Amino acid sequence: MKKLSFTLFAALSLTAATAQTPKNIILMIGDGMGPAHVTALVEAQAGTPVNMERPRVGGLVKTSSANDRVTDSAAAGTAYATGHKTNDGSLGVCPHGRRLESILEKAERAGLATGLVVTTTLSDATPAAFYAHVADRNDKATINAQFAEANIEVAAEYVPDLAAATDEALKILATDPDGFFLMVEGSNIDKVAHDNDGEAVLRELRDFDAAVGVALDWAEAHPETLVVITADHETGAFTLPEGDGNRWIPRPEGYRRGIEFRWGAHDHTASMVPIFAFGPGAESFGGIQENTAVNHKMTALLSLN
Ligand SMILES: [Zn+2]
Repeated sequence: MKKLSFTLFAALSLTAATAQTPKNIILMIGDGMGPAHVTALVEAQAGTPVNMERPRVGGLVKTSSANDRVTDSAAAGTAYATGHKTNDGSLGVCPHGRRLESILEKAERAGLATGLVVTTTLSDATPAAFYAHVADRNDKATINAQFAEANIEVAAEYVPDLAAATDEALKILATDPDGFFLMVEGSNIDKVAHDNDGEAVLRELRDFDAAVGVALDWAEAHPETLVVITADHETGAFTLPEGDGNRWIPRPEGYRRGIEFRWGAHDHTASMVPIFAFGPGAESFGGIQENTAVNHKMTALLSLN
């Protein structure tokens, strides 16, 4: 049995060595960004393609947590960070409280540079899932203490321009010859979707999409870079029925009616979220997958297992 698994491992290694593998991964998370949010941005641009349309690989992600069909950002962030489902509210620990090593920590251990760039605070659930290990996302004292102990090369919060901050982060991280793992979050998409504020949602989506553009430009110039763009969950039960009100997206010339923004909830929903991938290994993110599988694929592509 031992010999068989060894032979199997050797065969897998050979496959991995001949396949295209990335040296760097940029994970971009639009917090709360469901399929309709992306559609709204695309429609609002009225024919001018958005950056999220650039990758040729796309799919959907199932977002449930260990104890909830509708996840919160802590459990969803933990799924992307660690590859494990946990309970709502938990960061970097399993439902029984066991510490789970994140892809960022594995990357650090392997000598890669790491970065977190977010539009809110680094102690918020999504970024914290990559370095914190605490059962309660509101335990900010523990989260801040664990952040101080983490060896993150680039950590930027409250960035007013996510694209510029992403560009800045990439310049710093690229100086590490071993490669890097960078997580960029459009954090406020979720916040304004909770408020059902359509105008603000478009503003935050544009900010996020501009950062996606910077990441994709980087990956085109540095082909050893994989960019994965997704969301942690959908917020707002957002839909886009046609409407005469021309409230948000006016009736384009030649069309009968415009598009209304309609909201079915002030909270998260169970909707699957989009995922787009560009660069070496991108094709493995096509189709429907669990959020935990996204972590497993990234971890395997960087050989961090
Ligand atoms: Zn939320």
